[in-house]
Amino acid sequence: MQSFNYLAPHSQNELCQVLCNTAGKIIAGGTDMLPQMRNLKQTPSTLIDISHISDLRYIQESEDEVLIGALTTWSDILESPLIQKTAPALAQAASLVGAPMTRNRGTIGGNLGNASPAADSLPPLLTLDAIVHLNSQSGQRQVPLRNFLTGPGTTDLKADEYIQQVSYKKVALPFGNVFNKLGPRQGMTISIASVAVLLALDANGKITLARIALGAVAPTAVRCPDAEAFLLGKEPSTELWQEAAHQVRKAIAPIDDVRGTQEYRHHIAGILTRRALQTAYLSLQE
Ligand SMILES: Cc1cc2nc3c(=O)[nH]c(=O)nc-3n(C[C@H](O)[C@H](O)[C@H](O)COP(=O)(O)OP(=O)(O)OC[C@H]3O[C@@H](n4cnc5c(N)ncnc54)[C@H](O)[C@@H]3O)c2cc1C
Repeated sequence: MQSFNYLAPHSQNELCQVLCNTAGKIIAGGTDMLPQMRNLKQTPSTLIDISHISDLRYIQESEDEVLIGALTTWSDILESPLIQKTAPALAQAASLVGAPMTRNRGTIGGNLGNASPAADSLPPLLTLDAIVHLNSQSGQRQVPLRNFLTGPGTTDLKADEYIQQVSYKKVALPFGNVFNKLGPRQGMTISIASVAVLLALDANGKITLARIALGAVAPTAVRCPDAEAFLLGKEPSTELWQEAAHQVRKAIAPIDDVRGTQEYRHHIAGILTRRALQTAYLSLQE
């Protein structure tokens, strides 16, 4: 690891000043940054440790939305009754991230900032039409998550900005919201492919809301609008899930890498989608 200057602001005001005056790199839990620094993939001249800014760690609700501070850990998310109720797929994703040690250190802001196509917060948050709130000395701005992600490991974040929080509008109950991922092994694993779905039905059992998002099968995590539109107004059935999975396979553009081939990812993405739709549907029958 190369040597670096170290700054540790204790408030958001201080952080804004530091980011305005220093070409530094933010570190939160360090579970992505430290391995990348050890591998020399990141060689920051200044490291800006935001982990002491306690007012960036919260899960709050207003009448119609939920707000998650950037320093909220995976463990906080997993244990939150509010997240379990309003974003069950995000709680499921949290339960599958790394081991307890990683879940206690790793933050949602870090998962968004790292912007891996395989990052597990992204498919659940995409099904919720989440908004990323950015802050800097020149003011705040809000960016839909789908626009925030610009490529593998790249985002719309400017050099003087930090992620303050992520928010989503509450979806009217009842709805089914499910996350599935497949990795090279059962636990402690980065996704080969992942999927989140959100499903709601009307009184006649027809689909009124269908959102499907996938991770690790394109340069960024993606929504599948064609498959979603295909499902609307239809009655759930095994054949319907199969056809939606087919539409998803057409929409994605996976790559070969150490974790899986393009063909395998295509195959798996369809299976995960079909299972997630079925599970979301069954959760609505309970
Ligand atoms: C053993 C292990 C297992 C893992 N398993 C999983 C897994 O199953 N699923 C998964 O998705 N990830 C996994 N990860 C990756 C990692 O734990 C997560 O991405 C985690 O959420 C990163 O959060 P962090 O706070 O540690 O980020 P950091 O490492 O501190 O930062 C990551 C990136 O985000 C930027 N950043 C952090 N916070 C902010 C902010 N507030 N504003 C702007 N930029 C910011 C940093 O500059 C950096 O570029 C694993 C990592 C390890 C080491």
